[in-house]
Amino acid sequence: MLSKYNFSMDIGIIGAGASGIFAALTAARSGAHVTLFDHNAEIGKKLLVTGSGRCNLTNAALSPEKYSCADQSWMQAFLQAFPLQALLAELDALGIPTHHSDDGWYYPLSDSAHSVVDILRQALLARGVELRLSTQVVDYWQQGRGFVVRFPSGEPARTQSFDRLVVAAGGKAYPALGSRGELFPTLARLGHTVVPLVPALGPLTLSLGAWKALQGLRFDVKTGIWAGDELLGESFGNLIFTAWGMNGPGVMNLSHLAARQPGEKLSLSLDFGAVFGQEWERRLAKDNPTALKAVLEAFFPPKAAEFFLAQARIPPEARMRELSRAQAQQLSSILREARLPITGTKGFGQSQVSAGGVPVGEVDARTCQSRLVPGLYLVGETLDVVGPCGGFNLHFAFGSGCLAGRHLASLSAG
Ligand SMILES: Cc1cc2nc3c(=O)[nH]c(=O)nc-3n(C[C@H](O)[C@H](O)[C@H](O)COP(=O)(O)OP(=O)(O)OC[C@H]3O[C@@H](n4cnc5c(N)ncnc54)[C@H](O)[C@@H]3O)c2cc1C
Repeated sequence: MLSKYNFSMDIGIIGAGASGIFAALTAARSGAHVTLFDHNAEIGKKLLVTGSGRCNLTNAALSPEKYSCADQSWMQAFLQAFPLQALLAELDALGIPTHHSDDGWYYPLSDSAHSVVDILRQALLARGVELRLSTQVVDYWQQGRGFVVRFPSGEPARTQSFDRLVVAAGGKAYPALGSRGELFPTLARLGHTVVPLVPALGPLTLSLGAWKALQGLRFDVKTGIWAGDELLGESFGNLIFTAWGMNGPGVMNLSHLAARQPGEKLSLSLDFGAVFGQEWERRLAKDNPTALKAVLEAFFPPKAAEFFLAQARIPPEARMRELSRAQAQQLSSILREARLPITGTKGFGQSQVSAGGVPVGEVDARTCQSRLVPGLYLVGETLDVVGPCGGFNLHFAFGSGCLAGRHLASLSAG
């Protein structure tokens, strides 16, 4: 067996999610011996549920400012080292062709996360990566110029030594799929900063009051999160009203801002008109002779049109030119400046990613090697990076794994 590969370096990777799989695939290219640990019985368990089973791989609109992290120049260097084309080329070489929606969201041509994970599994095996599944790593430490990993596989617990170690164990989001954050204390012990983890890309709970009437309706809305008069962040996207608050990209993209301010009085602003631009202004002009309800129904479901008018205390048959200045202002403020009190998030269990972890400045943007612990690489959600919905987080996970793997391959070959 060993003669088939020219093993020059022993590399351990903790976590067989998006980032760990890509680190393993690229590191193994030069013939290094790569061992990939995961406490799940299969690789890529979270990948299987991404994009509602379609796996939204990346996005045409990648740019540093789309990501929330401590250092935008780090993110710029990262995206220069691993741009969109780099991921598409890697995927294509693996046999995963892609296509994208009009708004630039990339998916596998198969539209199947299962087919992606299946191809990745076969590629790992073909490159000689040793899969150590159903194996939870409980600790690791430095020894000489390498690392020792401890995993309780029966009694007594076993250890294994590696020349280099990649931590790809994810954050705390969706713990049922394997990532629970239990290895962050080890990173702190090694000297890394660990920013407290909070849920991100999840639903928001709100004090809806009368707005509960919109339950079940979807809107494309410009949203903002406010602490008093201070705007913490803005987004634009689709959202759905529920019995307890809102879900969908329009609020998910901002939810980490709410999670980071527990106890603060926060509110969510909603601008229902932003999406329609000048068309909206034209239709709501003073001289439009059509009844207001009919005008609003051109933009919203009838239930919503009725609700907005009732909130503004305007009879449904009223026309724009019949409104008093106060009524017109009231309608405009409900449609464009509504504010609802935020009560919280739905926690890690319903979040797609977590914010927090190791700040990006503590690893090299082109290799993801720790600046504090030589030979240790931190990738994916272990780092404190959050992108919006649309493939940005998988791009970061694949890319950081790939950059670490490429660096390890270059060391191994040299
Ligand atoms: C429902 C859902 C839908 C999503 N959809 C999208 C999408 O369409 N597009 C997008 O860009 N992003 C999406 N995401 C986010 C994306 O899945 C994550 O950004 C990405 O998976 C992070 O990859 P990772 O490798 O850092 O972590 P993970 O994928 O979480 O992988 C970490 C792995 O490490 C293992 N592990 C953890 N601790 C240990 C340990 N101690 N010992 C052994 N193994 C361990 C875990 O079992 C896990 O397999 C979605 C997330 C969810 C939950």
